[in-house]
Amino acid sequence: MTLPEQIRVLERGWLSSNNIVFLDDDGATVVDTGYVTHLDDTIRLIDEAREGRPLRRIVNTHIHSDHAGGNAGLKALHGCEVWIPPGEAELVDVWDEDRLSYRRTSQLCPPFRYDALIHPNDTLRLGGEDWRVLPAAGHDHAMVMLWCERLGILLSADALWQKGFGVIFPELAGIPGFAEQKATLDLIGQLQPRWVIPGHGAPFSGEAVDAALMAAHSRIDWLMEEPRRNSDNALKVLLAFKLLEARRLTLPELADMVRTSVQGNVAMQAHYPHEPEVMAAFMAEQLVRAGAATREGDTLIAPR
Ligand SMILES: [Zn+2]
Repeated sequence: MTLPEQIRVLERGWLSSNNIVFLDDDGATVVDTGYVTHLDDTIRLIDEAREGRPLRRIVNTHIHSDHAGGNAGLKALHGCEVWIPPGEAELVDVWDEDRLSYRRTSQLCPPFRYDALIHPNDTLRLGGEDWRVLPAAGHDHAMVMLWCERLGILLSADALWQKGFGVIFPELAGIPGFAEQKATLDLIGQLQPRWVIPGHGAPFSGEAVDAALMAAHSRIDWLMEEPRRNSDNALKVLLAFKLLEARRLTLPELADMVRTSVQGNVAMQAHYPHEPEVMAAFMAEQLVRAGAATREGDTLIAPR
């Protein structure tokens, strides 16, 4: 079984989300645009995928920096429209970096303007098919997924990957998110997708979908049992992400990031009462152990 011709999945990795290009007769749409430092690759890959059609539209599943970082650049280049979910539209209007996620995650996202909102239960026409917008709270309460009933294909964004799902960010700030993620997984289970195109990693189908759902259910239960695990995972993911972007980070830089994350998130304040330097040293060890970094003296270096 393969995905239809009119859907091109540009698999990108962790710093940039996947870009999913839909081809229609009159133009192309891309779902999610990657991280800003990868913009040149994003432009080139989309150019290859759209095969001469104009890029008419960007649709974002959510506006985290690794999903919306190419919005401004692509819009400037192609004059395309940007459609986003309504949840954080007001923050985008005023570009409030303190309340958007960028400041507390130490991530970059160039400001962009949107042209339309996609509400849960709206239907979008993409690649000659109808796609229903579905709510996907948990990782990000404003996030949506796209579901094509006829083809049994789900664009799951960061709600379900082949191995796990995105950090439950609301919980870090003291806002419930675990139950919401469970509900999102239940919804995916009810849809019984034949294919899942995740926000990161390769598309998967058939039994791999069932296996991913089962693993995701046990992971969310494991996180709920001890919320500190969600904070630890968040910190590890944020530091690994920054290391991928910066390529090298010193321990004092790591400590600054820890301080920023903890300041911006009440749950983390409870979980990490120690000095940021202590946490940074601990996290550095974890990253090296996980193979996400090597260490030279006081500096962490990203793997090639
Ligand atoms: Zn995300």
